[in-house]
Amino acid sequence: MTHPAQPKASHFINGEYVEDTAGTPIPVIYAATGEQIATVHAATPAIVEQALSTAKEAQKAWAKMTGTERGRILRRAADIMRERNHDLSVLETYDTGKPLQETLVADATSGADALEYFGGLAASLTGEHIPLGEDWVYTKREALGLCVGIGAWNYPTQIACWKGAPALACGNAMVFKPSETTPLCALKVAEILIEAGAPAGVFNVVQGMGEVGGALVTDPRVDKVSLTGSVPTGKKVYAAAAEGMKHVTMELGGKSPLIIFDDADIDNAVGGAINGNFYSSGQVCSNGTRVFVQKGIKEKFLARLAERTGNAILGDPMDEATSFGPMVTENQMNIVLGYIEKGKEEGARLICGGKRADMDGYFIEPTVFADVTDDMTIAREEIFGPVMSVLDFDTEEEVVARANDTEFGLSAGVFTKDFTRAHRVIGNLEAGSCFINSYNDAPVEAPFGGVKASGVGRENSKEAIKHFSQVKSVYVRMGDVEAAF
Ligand code: NAD
Repeated sequence: MTHPAQPKASHFINGEYVEDTAGTPIPVIYAATGEQIATVHAATPAIVEQALSTAKEAQKAWAKMTGTERGRILRRAADIMRERNHDLSVLETYDTGKPLQETLVADATSGADALEYFGGLAASLTGEHIPLGEDWVYTKREALGLCVGIGAWNYPTQIACWKGAPALACGNAMVFKPSETTPLCALKVAEILIEAGAPAGVFNVVQGMGEVGGALVTDPRVDKVSLTGSVPTGKKVYAAAAEGMKHVTMELGGKSPLIIFDDADIDNAVGGAINGNFYSSGQVCSNGTRVFVQKGIKEKFLARLAERTGNAILGDPMDEATSFGPMVTENQMNIVLGYIEKGKEEGARLICGGKRADMDGYFIEPTVFADVTDDMTIAREEIFGPVMSVLDFDTEEEVVARANDTEFGLSAGVFTKDFTRAHRVIGNLEAGSCFINSYNDAPVEAPFGGVKASGVGRENSKEAIKHFSQVKSVYVRMGDVEAAF
């Protein structure tokens, strides 16, 4: 019998499901059991062509609609997503393995927020009137045209919406390629947009590996590329986009610092460290994986952290009591286990976890290392799994310098009751998305993105509009033209 997660076909182009079985088969594996639940096929060159030409054509009429009309469609799509939250969350769990306890509140809901927010903004995207005596300049905020979105595997619904909603609000069309690891959810986003009244072809989904992403990025008809992925992929995609002088948004990896001063509320700080390391089993780009704890509270912090981490419920992700799911793939599990071994070899002190859980699926126990030093591999490289490194520090000056000593700059957090210090420390940290006495909140109203190797551009908020539109300025002369001859 066909599994309920199996989509009707691999791709969604011009308002309908499209198949081309000549493409490489991509198995969809449910991470909690290792069982294959669906198959899709990578886009063939013919499918890529169909998606790009359809989107290019559809964009023209879409951009001519009023912002109010476009916004209404996006807001309707948001309503449909909320109505279907349960089914979409189950699919998200099949796609990623993340527990339903999370997906019910963090995925389709976050996608719906983006559709609603950008739907609301669509009608207010205007230009300026700039008086110059009798003459004047006016500006228009115009769509970029054809945008490509490429997703990572940790938030397949959210990423499709965080890219699709602002792109469509501005009058662009999009071809979205989900990660080959999680190909299912974006198809539902495309389906829902059509149901909400979006014209066929303005949001299309094609499947495939890096090769398909590469074909999309290098196509001369594409005006913008928005990627969520790792830094190495980001470098390749950014370079390819530069060849064609395309706009980019790069949402890449991180190794973010979470700094806990000894005046912090310990339980809140432990809660922040748990949210910033173990949510989605640690597969979150903005995670605060270098937890710097001031020496005075170190052992107290570690004791409370170990106690609370022991309360994680590993199990069937479809059981709402489960609070901690598997790694997305066997490969990702092995990468993370490799880092755990490195941590042990390099002399970090294992506080809890540290191994694969004794159960089906790709589960790793939530793992905490203490006495981690700045030069250890687990403190330098993005692990993208449930491995928290706790490092000690003495002074504010020292910790800020050490926190910034990384190629990454996605996020940073600080826990302290001293608000002057909190703002000063955040002011000195090289990171794009920061938190004070909290960690990993990502409301659509707030800009999200990194500095340094962690990215270019911002998603969400009014900032995202700037990255999916461009300004045309028009000089209007009211009098005669003077010329030299
Ligand atoms: P990845 O870089 O391996 O792949 C990301 C996407 O890029 C996939 O869809 C992949 O098929 C595609 N791709 C790969 N090579 C390509 C190429 N040459 N041209 C075009 N597309 C190509 O990343 P991943 O393993 O799917 O995701 C994990 C990474 O994503 C982590 O580093 C994580 O930090 C990052 N991430 C960042 C954010 C953020 O918002 N900053 C969010 C989630 C994940």
